[in-house]
Amino acid sequence: MKIPRKAIRELRAILGRDNLLTDPAELAVYSRDASNHEGMPDAVVLPQSHEEVVRVMKIAAAHALPVVPRGAGSGVCGGAVAVRGGLTVSLARMNRITGIDQDNHTARVEPGVINADLKAEAAACGLYYPPDPASFRFCTIGGNVATGAGGPSAVKYGVTRDYVRAITAVLPDGSTLEAGTETAKGVAGYDLCRLLVGSEGTLALFTGLTLTLAPLPRARATLLVFARSATAAASLVAPLLEQVVPCALEFMDQTAARLVAEKLPRPPAADESLLLVELDGDPETVALEEKRLSVFLKDRAGVTELFRAADEDEAERLRAARRSLSPASFRLNPDKINEDVVVPRKRIPELVDFVHALGRELAIPVFTFGHAGDGNLHVNIMIDRSDPGQKEAGAEARKKLFARVVAMGGTITGEHGIGLSKMEFLPEEASPRALDLMAAIKKAFDPAGIMNPGKVLE
Ligand SMILES: Cc1cc2nc3c(=O)[nH]c(=O)nc-3n(C[C@H](O)[C@H](O)[C@H](O)COP(=O)(O)OP(=O)(O)OC[C@H]3O[C@@H](n4cnc5c(N)ncnc54)[C@H](O)[C@@H]3O)c2cc1C
Repeated sequence: MKIPRKAIRELRAILGRDNLLTDPAELAVYSRDASNHEGMPDAVVLPQSHEEVVRVMKIAAAHALPVVPRGAGSGVCGGAVAVRGGLTVSLARMNRITGIDQDNHTARVEPGVINADLKAEAAACGLYYPPDPASFRFCTIGGNVATGAGGPSAVKYGVTRDYVRAITAVLPDGSTLEAGTETAKGVAGYDLCRLLVGSEGTLALFTGLTLTLAPLPRARATLLVFARSATAAASLVAPLLEQVVPCALEFMDQTAARLVAEKLPRPPAADESLLLVELDGDPETVALEEKRLSVFLKDRAGVTELFRAADEDEAERLRAARRSLSPASFRLNPDKINEDVVVPRKRIPELVDFVHALGRELAIPVFTFGHAGDGNLHVNIMIDRSDPGQKEAGAEARKKLFARVVAMGGTITGEHGIGLSKMEFLPEEASPRALDLMAAIKKAFDPAGIMNPGKVLE
């Protein structure tokens, strides 16, 4: 036990026995996220209010304890893993939606609210919270804000960052920061709110979030485009976006299509690849856009079939097929290196070709799917880590992928973050000057270096 007994006694006095875990069996539950990383915290606290978080943080600061904020632990980069032990602060019990303002289209939430619960509550008021990571049924809003999460709807509605108006945060010294404004506009001083978005738990712990809501779209159409090959499907993306503004434009290459074949309206042919296109808005607008899309796709080179979901059940089956790709990928090999690279949208066909060539060159399964409308593809490098040759090939594939993406004017991560997994690659994208500034910002927020140490920069 690295945490001094005195600190444990102080924590227990604030939180009670039920909200402080020190039993190794219970701690083990918090030792991982959805990445391959592992690290045991020395204690886990489950505060239930902003005031409790403040008091916990003051104890952590006084004893120089590492603090690891944690939502649902669904992150894929090791962000919520306690690599240096210390205190994991789970926000799971701060899960109240404290207000929905129908006039101003905002929601005020605690960080442990599950994304799907906010969507449901907003919908009951005729409003819509668009950010939709595939994990939306179990990930938290706090985790979404800390990672800058995105999903299929980003092509029309933007990502989590675009919905955060204000953050109440507890800083590493236990003081409270109110960043941002409740209003739609606000430019008073530096934008600390936006700085906190995507900070991966390394600057502050969020205890309250004010989010923008949109009007709930009244109609939705879901279409699946079968294309002759991955290149043919990818080449449709840019011209299709000249015709309509979809609320999802998801690409699946031939391997991805085969992995979810049983969930599709018909099995795809050997090389057939897919685009899942969704349109939303007023019924009249959706009907108009759908018509325009059908005309555009009809007889277009490379398109083999256009399928329209007849009802919401069919549409949900198609969305579920897309969401199930991540777990389905393990049918190819027991281990996965999962990257979420982004390139300028018009270079998606080039990226798809490069990814497939990489798999052939290194003789390992590499396939891709994702948010093609944003230029954001999930590249899945499937390996068996027990085979040293495959392990090495996986590492090589990753290195080549990042180098190529940066050379194409893209980024090494569009939504998952750096965490532990991509620290060594950040300098490939960020300049030494930018890295210096990031380090200075970290130091200004967290001079003692206790906030999620060992992540992103160190
Ligand atoms: C099947 C699956 C599908 C996924 N699909 C997507 C996807 O489509 N798009 C996408 O963006 N991501 C996706 N993810 C990744 C993950 O769900 C997101 O990164 C999500 O935002 C993490 O939320 P969480 O509550 O699980 O956070 P955690 O994993 O618990 O934490 C993530 C990071 O946020 C920090 N953090 C958490 N809460 C707070 C807080 N209150 N204050 C400060 N820092 C905090 C943590 O320290 C950590 O660095 C997927 C994951 C899985 C397993």
